[in-house]
Amino acid sequence: MDSTEIWLSLAPELYVFVAPAHRAERSAVRADGASTLGHVVQSLGVPLTEVGALTVDGRQVPAAHIPTGGEEISVQSVARPQQLSGPPRFLLDIHLGTLARRLRLLGVDAAYENPDIGDAALAARSAGEQRVMLSRDRGLLRRREVWAGAYVYSHRPEEQLRDVLSRFAPPLAPWTRCTACNGMLRDATKASVHEQLRIGTQRTHDTFAQCSDCGQAYWQGAHHERLAAIVDEAVREFGTPSPTRAP
Ligand SMILES: [Zn+2]
Repeated sequence: MDSTEIWLSLAPELYVFVAPAHRAERSAVRADGASTLGHVVQSLGVPLTEVGALTVDGRQVPAAHIPTGGEEISVQSVARPQQLSGPPRFLLDIHLGTLARRLRLLGVDAAYENPDIGDAALAARSAGEQRVMLSRDRGLLRRREVWAGAYVYSHRPEEQLRDVLSRFAPPLAPWTRCTACNGMLRDATKASVHEQLRIGTQRTHDTFAQCSDCGQAYWQGAHHERLAAIVDEAVREFGTPSPTRAP
């Protein structure tokens, strides 16, 4: 190895982002003596949103550290649960519609727009509303304007939900939010929502809720058991009581 090489040790959780040569306990990486460690790690393909503690020869350094030849560098994955400077609020990209609906089902604030508003508008909204940008698109997560971001590791909605809940531990308040638009639900009378009900529903149901934003009516209909199973599983694993939970 020459004097411009550094030794990198990546946490195994980050292997998914890098070429096979770097999926090892230790791999050599060229350092130019000018680029920051953050830049070096990102240029290997790892989004900085996924990077936790960085250490050089055992001592913790910031991402702005400029590596020099011979350094032994360790790159941890982000700590779970990850601390945010505000309440956990999310913004999901166009590919994560199912995850958005499941988060809303659990009462987690999950903004999502379809049709797609584009990366620039998503990044600006993340900044403007201090929302964690959730995406599987590394280019989107790399945008400077993004307030905070998280790569969603799986293709499968069940695993995506567990990933986000274990990473951010948002307070859960099932059945309080509209799965269609993210608005808050309020109790509703049968009379106030009767225009949205079929005759059969009117006859067999007495408990209704309505979205205060879009007006969508909710009741325990045909899909209730499937949704309740998703809620029960999430609450069992992640539903620790929280002081910020809605009453
Ligand atoms: Zn709604």
